[in-house]
Amino acid sequence: VSSVETTAAHLERIAEVDSEVHAFLHINARAHEVAASIDARRAAGEELGPLAGVPLAIKDVLVTTDMPSTSGSKILEGWMSPYDATVVARSRAAGLVPLGKTNMDEFAMGSSTEHSAYGPTHNPWDLTRIPGGSGGGSAAAVAAFETPLALGSDTGGSIRQPAHVTGTVGVKPTYGAVSRYGAIALASSLDQVGPCSRSVLDAGLLQDVIAGHDHHDSTSLPDAWPSMAAAAREGATGQVLKGLRVGVVKQLQGEGFQTGVTQRFTESLALLEAQGAEIVEIDAPHFEYAVAAYYLILPAEASSNLAKFDSVRFGLRVTPEGGGTVDHVMAATREAGFGPEVKRRIILGTYALSAGYYDAYYGSAQKVRTLIQRDFASAFSRVDVLASPSAPTTAFRLGEKLEDPMAMYLNDVTTIPANLAGIPGISVPNGLAPEDGLPVGIQFMAPAREDARLYRVGAALE
Ligand code: GLN
Repeated sequence: VSSVETTAAHLERIAEVDSEVHAFLHINARAHEVAASIDARRAAGEELGPLAGVPLAIKDVLVTTDMPSTSGSKILEGWMSPYDATVVARSRAAGLVPLGKTNMDEFAMGSSTEHSAYGPTHNPWDLTRIPGGSGGGSAAAVAAFETPLALGSDTGGSIRQPAHVTGTVGVKPTYGAVSRYGAIALASSLDQVGPCSRSVLDAGLLQDVIAGHDHHDSTSLPDAWPSMAAAAREGATGQVLKGLRVGVVKQLQGEGFQTGVTQRFTESLALLEAQGAEIVEIDAPHFEYAVAAYYLILPAEASSNLAKFDSVRFGLRVTPEGGGTVDHVMAATREAGFGPEVKRRIILGTYALSAGYYDAYYGSAQKVRTLIQRDFASAFSRVDVLASPSAPTTAFRLGEKLEDPMAMYLNDVTTIPANLAGIPGISVPNGLAPEDGLPVGIQFMAPAREDARLYRVGAALE
């Protein structure tokens, strides 16, 4: 099939279902043209990579020159970036066809995509339920066959948790493996861009395109990466499970985990064991404090990153009635432009960073972060990978946790530790929960720089 045909088929699918799913905020008017140019290059005999001509959906946190980039916020409504995010530029160079920009919680704050200023995305498995978040648009688009591939960003689980609730694959690479240049920053020490797909191999192909050093990002690793697609292919043979030591973290199961999620997880562990893996119980005592530490570190960094939305440099400008000073204009703009969750976190973050409180809140959270990193180091001295359910429950109903921020935050208990430690994590589909027939995922985590190991294990279980 040609890229023009593939692209047209996906645009048709979008036209058919996206009024209900609402995965997209913007459709690329030039998608057909881009696809045609790829077909022409291939017809002319040019050697193109494996993803040339394949459609790609792009989370709206990633800036693009040819489509607006809003990060799900009103404050950036219609804003056009003067440059492409590195991952977008690399995707274009590899011949991927940008289909459009996907919906997300405002500035990637949330676990349900309900905090988008442009209305929620619906889970294609059950339209009354959430698609996860913050990257619910990317995951729902993949799950609803509106696109085969999507880009996401994961600060505390925003690629992996949406993958879990939509029955898709999501990968958070090692911190620094993929450039953050042009990813509108939420929490810079936690943010990482990664792939969303329907198979581990597809995710690997996309990670191969986007990973690698970028001098625009000072935290970008200089490493030469092995092919993740090759690792996925190797994993698919199943051989890799023999002798693999799989750690199961005591703190990432039990209370708060839905029965069916636990049941599917236990079954998969038995399957891994039957294939020759060794299951090892791991105690990670400081994981208990991960969510608390994260919800201090994240708001602290976010409050600083969002200071640039001041009505002068980007997007929206609201002038109070009767005019006012520059301070009044900034205040009126931020009041009108930010949603409630963003305001909540800015207040939390500035409080945690304020004089007199800094040591008690931000300082303590950073200490906990170090202790969690040590828990991981000690775990990985005993096992090759860690496994857990990717999230504690299946997709909850739209509206169910919207008024209860704590309940929403607790949904990230399984995904947050990897971000705090900078290590890679993958969520692979793990069947359906018997009680509600909704998808669940299994998460694997590996030491930093061992992303390929996750692709091997993920593909073996797939
Ligand atoms: N749900 C988490 C939060 O609200 C994760 C967000 C993310 O990974 N961007 O912060």
